[in-house]
Amino acid sequence: MKASEIKWVPPETCPVCGVDVPPKALACPGCGADRQSGWNDEATGLDGVDLPGENFDYDQFVEREFGGQVKPAGQKTMWWVVGIVLLIAIVALFLFPW
Ligand SMILES: [Zn+2]
Repeated sequence: MKASEIKWVPPETCPVCGVDVPPKALACPGCGADRQSGWNDEATGLDGVDLPGENFDYDQFVEREFGGQVKPAGQKTMWWVVGIVLLIAIVALFLFPW
């Protein structure tokens, strides 16, 4: 049985835009949401959205990123060196256009 053959009952109102949906509509007349793009149970839940949720602990994040965790000590210095070398190279190109 193909998915398209499963009896499908649209919601009475579109959960995306709130417009009344005709009983046999295959897509929302208001915003065009349909089974694939929009209003079925899986899609209307926002749980899967890739945003920092309530569980996101900013303090913990900061601590992990900038705080006590052991990091290779030379990494920051290395990027400074890379930056300075690039800067010198660019300046040299301007000063000595050979
Ligand atoms: Zn809609």
